[in-house]
Amino acid sequence: MSQSCIFCKIVAGEIPSKKIYEDELVYAFHDINPQRQVHILVIPKHHLTSLQDATTSDEPTLGRILSVANQLATEAGSPGGFRVIINNGDIGCQEVPHLHAHIVGGDQPVGPMLKRLD
Ligand code: 5GP
Ligand code: ZN
Repeated sequence: MSQSCIFCKIVAGEIPSKKIYEDELVYAFHDINPQRQVHILVIPKHHLTSLQDATTSDEPTLGRILSVANQLATEAGSPGGFRVIINNGDIGCQEVPHLHAHIVGGDQPVGPMLKRLD
């Protein structure tokens, strides 16, 4: 655990969250500022800053994040599909430096993948 990491503190129960799911590898909770009707964050329980720092030893956790996504999205109200977004580092516009997959959806299409830069 990183002492200064807000998502590590959420996993440890030191900061409250609306928990959806937890197993030995990952923790899932509702985003505090949802961008769509369904907006879930799935994170490794151990501190991992981003995919920039991932190694082969993280593969079980990274696989679990994706393999639980459909169940979590369906149960949260997005049975017709969803989008998974992982922002990494400064160029990826990552704000919280503990890896997290956004699962976004609902009963409306989530929209274009990226807004074109002019
Ligand atoms: P990023 O831009 O790093 O990919 O996304 C960070 C996400 O974490 C944002 O969607 C933001 O709303 C969410 N977030 C930041 N702090 C908290 C928090 O304390 N609790 C919860 N539930 N979500 C948070
Ligand atoms: Zn952390």
